[in-house]
Amino acid sequence: MGDIARVNALLELARISEFLGQPRRAAARLDEALVLGERLGSPTVRLNALVNLANTHAFVLHDPAGAEPYFQQAIAIVQSVARPPLPQDAGLHLGYAASLLERRKLDEARVQVERAERILRSLPNADGLRSRAIGTRGLLELENGRYDQARLRLGEALTLQRRLGDRMGETASMLYLAKVDLKSGQPRQALADTAKVLEIAERGGGGPLLLVEALTQMAEVHEALGDSARAAEYSARLQALAGEAAAAQMDAPMARMRERAQAPARIADDLAWNRREFVRNSLLAVLALLVLAGGIALARLRRRQRRLIEAGATDPLTGLLNRREAGRRIEALEIGGQRRNAVLLVDVDRFKAINDQQGHVAGDEILVRIAAVLRACCDDDDIVARWGGEEFLVVRANTSQEAAFALAEHLRESIQRADALAGDGIEVTVSLGVASSPFFPGAQDGGWQEAVGLADRALYVAKHAGRNAWAGLWGLAEGRGVDLYSVRQNPEAALAQGWIAIGGNRPMSWSPVREGEPDASYRHAPLREGEERTPRRGGETG
Ligand code: GH3
Ligand code: MG
Ligand code: MG
Repeated sequence: MGDIARVNALLELARISEFLGQPRRAAARLDEALVLGERLGSPTVRLNALVNLANTHAFVLHDPAGAEPYFQQAIAIVQSVARPPLPQDAGLHLGYAASLLERRKLDEARVQVERAERILRSLPNADGLRSRAIGTRGLLELENGRYDQARLRLGEALTLQRRLGDRMGETASMLYLAKVDLKSGQPRQALADTAKVLEIAERGGGGPLLLVEALTQMAEVHEALGDSARAAEYSARLQALAGEAAAAQMDAPMARMRERAQAPARIADDLAWNRREFVRNSLLAVLALLVLAGGIALARLRRRQRRLIEAGATDPLTGLLNRREAGRRIEALEIGGQRRNAVLLVDVDRFKAINDQQGHVAGDEILVRIAAVLRACCDDDDIVARWGGEEFLVVRANTSQEAAFALAEHLRESIQRADALAGDGIEVTVSLGVASSPFFPGAQDGGWQEAVGLADRALYVAKHAGRNAWAGLWGLAEGRGVDLYSVRQNPEAALAQGWIAIGGNRPMSWSPVREGEPDASYRHAPLREGEERTPRRGGETG
């Protein structure tokens, strides 16, 4: 197995172990991936492994001290790559903040929250993370004993989560607000909200962690109300829960449950028990919950995506369909009569230079963003796929020449304009080649591979025309029966015969391929001064 394949396998195995409740095994896989990533000199692999290791240690294995070096290394990598900030960077700082809060390093936690807030200010669409940042601030205030401030922040987070329909985040914020009530000496107020959260947890919302939190807090609240008998009841339920987890041989969050199961009982037994210590312990898991809560919506999305990846249908980097699945879906499209589809090949301009200047991590992220822009600009029914390394394929079913060419221009312009792509003075543009599929109307066979070949030919023209351009070839009824090879060799002649229509966003040369360039692929488009030709990396993504 090659190193790249091995790294991917390790990351995937780690995910599976995590899913099966075996975080220690997951961590071991991630460690291996980290070592391999270092050997490969791949910051992307290292970052991926480090972030996962940090979160696993902090929030699953409850080892925030062990998580610290991973968080620090991950942050160092993010800071060493020149690129605009991403939402996940803010997530990284918030995770680290939560982990530091667990260790009662309040000042350091505050620094991390501030970093996350700064990043989020430049990201207008990251409200989910924003609510997490506000909530984390609220917990920081709670830890510092500033209850009014804590209440304010958590209330703000709650409002935002309601607006976003983030039920999990809402539940978590409700629990923390009740905790503020409890800590500020208002256990009666805390009771109603905690009971509400417990009800949600009992219905299965939030998983075992929320149930543990809610039961613990119920025990605490009753303790504060002077009702030791009720407190002991909740404590017993916690113990039963821990027993179940042990019986299921779950590595996590069993350790946490066991530890927590004892705590309320200890309170009930011994009123002189160190309350401070207890408050601290419960805060740990609550923070974990906050971090996890913010991730729930994302996790759900990822799960859907993962199912597609598992089915071998999507490209893991961009989440778009992969080449194989795209082919499958194109083949399933109806054709016949006048029904034709448009095939658009999209190739990133001078991507090699971007990689050289910004590094491969930044390059990968640009691919992710381009994929997002393409997906957002296309209709739901359009097939949008990662075709190869830095090439994408869009297929619109049952469309016209005008609509296809308009779509090409729309995609070209949207990529050029995308704010998210314009950071750090680099301009990211794409070139497109468009062709009809089947190329001539009335053809009964699919012939879509031929259409892709003609789109590639058009792309060659767009690249020659200076890039950030689109070029299109569209077969007309008059050309029916004409050999596609001759069209591809000499589009100008085919145009003169009235067999095809051609288009482009500016005047372009469609002259025949010169000698010494037998293949009219855009890959042979001349490079400018100082650019080097290198073999493509990645290739097919399926
Ligand atoms: P042109 O405008 O002619 O398309 O120039 P280009 O530099 O984009 O063309 P070329 O095909 O020479 O280079 C493509 C580059 O894309 C080279 C390769 O390293 C990079 N690449 C391919 N797949 C990936 C990937 O998954 N991630 C990153 N970061 N780079 C990739
Ligand atoms: Mg290319
Ligand atoms: Mg390119």
